Amino acid sequence: MRAVRLTVLLTCYLCLSALILHLADAQASDADRRAEVVDARGDAHTDGKSEKSDKADKADKADKADKADKADKADKAESRVAAKPETKPKGAPRPTQAQAKSATPSAAAPALPVADGREGKAGVPAVAAASAAPRVEPIAPVVTAFPLGDGDHAADPKHWTYEGDHGPVAWADLAPEFAACANGTRQSPIDIRDGIKVDLEPINFDYRESSFKVIDNGHTVQVNVAPGNAIRVMGRRFTLVQFHFHRPSEELLDGHATEMVVHMVHKDAEGKLAVVAVLLESGKAQPEVQAVWNNLPLEKNEEMAAAGRIDLLHLLPEDRRYYTYMGSLTTPPCTEGVLWMVMKQPVSVSPAQIALFSRLYPMNARPVQASSGRMIKESN
Ligand SMILES: [Zn+2]
Repeated sequence: MRAVRLTVLLTCYLCLSALILHLADAQASDADRRAEVVDARGDAHTDGKSEKSDKADKADKADKADKADKADKADKAESRVAAKPETKPKGAPRPTQAQAKSATPSAAAPALPVADGREGKAGVPAVAAASAAPRVEPIAPVVTAFPLGDGDHAADPKHWTYEGDHGPVAWADLAPEFAACANGTRQSPIDIRDGIKVDLEPINFDYRESSFKVIDNGHTVQVNVAPGNAIRVMGRRFTLVQFHFHRPSEELLDGHATEMVVHMVHKDAEGKLAVVAVLLESGKAQPEVQAVWNNLPLEKNEEMAAAGRIDLLHLLPEDRRYYTYMGSLTTPPCTEGVLWMVMKQPVSVSPAQIALFSRLYPMNARPVQASSGRMIKESN
């Protein structure tokens, strides 16, 4: 009986163990099934795989997910770096890149004018170029249309003056081609005195009414006369090139200057220069001088065509006797070999006409130079 009870107990124990094992196994397989359902949702992962391969797959997925996550983070970080200058929110890297791309063409836009070769506008943003255009366009033609070609600009090292650091004493130092201003021995102007009185041949003035242009060249008022005027003297014919004014007169007569002087510059076929000087003193108004004053240009170095005409025969004194000597240009480059003829009788200009020139050029006369024993002849 005792043996029977023991057998029953043992049987019950075995049954219980079997039951416990069975339950435990059922629980494990249920967990597996649940896991598979999750996998199937996530990856379209098929059933029937071994537990081992399933774990390996999970590990692989976890690795991929991790890498993907890292890559994504890195990408986001890169995007932030790219986006940083534009201070875009870090959650929107793609729109930022898109913006960066769409911004690129507009950032490149300023480079477009370069392609059409307009150098002045290259590098200037389109908007700025457009707004600057009305200011830039009118200025450029002015600069190119009126170049300062004769050394009048203050920045020009050859700029010469009648006073100050670039005055007559310094002329020769301003440029090598001005050397004669200091080294020359037959310079002008001079103090005309002790002339040899002879029967000088009359100067044959072949002047006629002519059109003319006036220019203020920064040193004087100069008149460029139309071709057709000339003088004949010493067997040569010199055509009139231009005439201009000085105040006071550069030449002295026995130590005395007059209010002004007009220099009529002529040139012969060989390029030799002949200057006729007409001294101007205060008196009645002079019509030809007034014609010049009436056509003064508003700007320096801008030649102005006069409306009327001029006849230089009317600017000559009645008495045509003169002094003559060999000299030079009285302005740089002080070229020598110039035939000078200074009319003995002055011509009158009004105080108002003198005052007008004085406002422009109160003093534009080179000091007298050494005569150095030069022969001066004068008409009897
Ligand atoms: Zn002169």
